[in-house]
Amino acid sequence: MNRLLTLSVLAVIAGTAMAQTTDKQYPEPEKMRPGMSEFWTPQPKVVTPGNQATASAPSDAIVLFDGTNLDAWKSSRTGGAAEWDIHDGVMTVNKQKGDIQTKDDFDSFQLHIEWMVPENITGKSQGRGNSGVFLQGMYEVQILDCYDNETYVNGMTGSIYKQQRPLANVMRKPGEWNVYDIIYTSPVFNEDGTYKVHPKVTVIQNGCVIINDYDIQGTTEYIGFPRVVKHGDGPIVLQSHGDPSEPISFRNIWLRPL
Ligand code: MG
Repeated sequence: MNRLLTLSVLAVIAGTAMAQTTDKQYPEPEKMRPGMSEFWTPQPKVVTPGNQATASAPSDAIVLFDGTNLDAWKSSRTGGAAEWDIHDGVMTVNKQKGDIQTKDDFDSFQLHIEWMVPENITGKSQGRGNSGVFLQGMYEVQILDCYDNETYVNGMTGSIYKQQRPLANVMRKPGEWNVYDIIYTSPVFNEDGTYKVHPKVTVIQNGCVIINDYDIQGTTEYIGFPRVVKHGDGPIVLQSHGDPSEPISFRNIWLRPL
């Protein structure tokens, strides 16, 4: 009798345990808000860059923009012509036309790109000269006017947006040209789509290393954390950001496949 009772009790306990296992409820992840992945400290030191001569393209470079036309580019939105404005040997973002991207896709590369915030720029934090360079169309190196304009450090000029802050703030004043030299190594993926080798990036702004051989964690997300998405070769994408400030300009863009 005792044994039977014991068995029945065990059966009831086991049944309850099974019910608990199948019906167990876990909390939903908290809904992400943009500010939950924005970090404001420590702010990188401010460095005044030295003078730099404009670097014309090396003989083996693919020239993506030499001041004359947008033949190497297309609209990310329509796939048709890239309709940013060309004037005086530079191209300026057209905020009505959206992002533009190279027609060609690239694997690993060295990219040289010069950009200028207009002298009359207004706005603050992320709403001041926001653009960006997307590597393989996936990972954003931020462009922003961080000259005397603080924002969250993993969103400032030269950050790997929402991932890695730059080592220094090497901004030139609005109206002066900034230079990025970006060295990018594409990722290797496992069969299941996870990174076997992360994408790596080094960013030099105005002659100073501001991102040093960083392992990119995943896609650029405004809300939430980076995601790992399997991909192959991809374009260089230039961002037409929706902030209301005056649009920035680009010149002298070239790339060397590595
Ligand atoms: Mg941006």
